Amino acid sequence: MSGCDISGALSLLEAQAHLTEVLSTAVAVETLPLAEAQGRVLAEPVRAGLPLPGFDNAAMDGYAVRLTDLLTTDTLALAGKAFAGAPFSGAWPAGSCVRIMTGAPVPEGAEAVVMQEEVQILADGRLRFTPATIRPGQHIRRQGEDVAAGSVVLAAGLRLGAQQLPLLAALNVAQVRVHRPLKVAFFSSGDELRSLGEPLGPGQIVDSNRYALACLLANLGCEVLDLGIIPDDPAALRSAFLQADRQADALITSGGVSVGEADYTKELLSELGEVAFWKVAIKPGKPFAFGRLTRATRGIPFFGLPGNPVSALVTFLLLVRPALARLMGWQLPPPRWLPALTTAPLRLTPGRQDFQRGCLFVDEDGALRVGSAGGQGSAMLMSLAAADCLVRLDPPMAGASRELPAGSRVWVWPFAEAGL
Ligand code: AMP
Ligand code: MG
Repeated sequence: MSGCDISGALSLLEAQAHLTEVLSTAVAVETLPLAEAQGRVLAEPVRAGLPLPGFDNAAMDGYAVRLTDLLTTDTLALAGKAFAGAPFSGAWPAGSCVRIMTGAPVPEGAEAVVMQEEVQILADGRLRFTPATIRPGQHIRRQGEDVAAGSVVLAAGLRLGAQQLPLLAALNVAQVRVHRPLKVAFFSSGDELRSLGEPLGPGQIVDSNRYALACLLANLGCEVLDLGIIPDDPAALRSAFLQADRQADALITSGGVSVGEADYTKELLSELGEVAFWKVAIKPGKPFAFGRLTRATRGIPFFGLPGNPVSALVTFLLLVRPALARLMGWQLPPPRWLPALTTAPLRLTPGRQDFQRGCLFVDEDGALRVGSAGGQGSAMLMSLAAADCLVRLDPPMAGASRELPAGSRVWVWPFAEAGL
């Protein structure tokens, strides 16, 4: 297959839809203490056993008042104090107010909290208010206004992070039902590859893809099984495939699925299961292999990434990451491609979506702009290291220009959103 032969290629959407269709949750469920649940995926929805706030309380430091007490006077005596954790408990005579701190329960009957900055303390200790400025209910956080008791607060399939954990903690949810981590095996294949630190002979390079994969998988909360470098040797490959099937829930390889090698990998994989080599109409992107090792014991899914580091990362983000999310039981929202204006002219690739590495900034008019992060070759690591987003260039319509002038709108996906 030449670099631009796209006959029979799947569109990215078709490839993604196929993965979504054939993959489903592959991990069991366990109960974990909340403190250990960070990064895990909820297996069941969580319902609130309590309202939040649990009781009416003050949103400000100040004075709790009854509006009726201020109908005929602007000055009230002090009946006592309410602190967070130490409610006011005495009698609350007419014509008085209660000193109250943020988070303290408002005394029964209180209709507003007046900020201390708006209250004058008189020499005799009484407090002077400006009644006309007091709104009923002001600065009172009402029981249940954030969360109603019994309501579903988090849906199954949500991944727990710093946004969700405080909600669950506040609701006194001590344990959660979550999916076990997905265990993902990976290896690099190629006779030219050497491990980091090994001396390099002629034609040899350091295997860099495994460092990207280890990092990408850790960010997803996966457990990893690093099977190292496997030479282009059928027996070694076979035993690595089988080990992955025994010990992991999914396998990712990089390299060895390009034209020169595919036939031979193909043969091995068709012996171990059903694996298809897809042409996906994206750039960078060589053949991408996907299937299941159905003739091995557990029949785990298999993802064969191209060897070129940029192609491997881009195909991982676009195809493998959403697929792993499904295996994890994680309802991963689709990427939000944001509109951005280009800083320089770009060339479009007929028939293929081109995913370039870009750098985002906000210009003086507040518009999101994107420039190239450098050389766009699929083996070029410098622009990858410098970039902060993928830039999607859709193929030109038939007959349309292949030149995209500077200032054109393109679509960008910030790496931070892609989990990098
Ligand atoms: P392949 O997909 O095996 O044809 O490899 C395509 C290109 O990617 C070749 O230049 C390989 O040397 C390179 N490559 C393959 N695997 C890796 C790897 N793990 N790390 C860095 N480069 C690689
Ligand atoms: Mg190779």
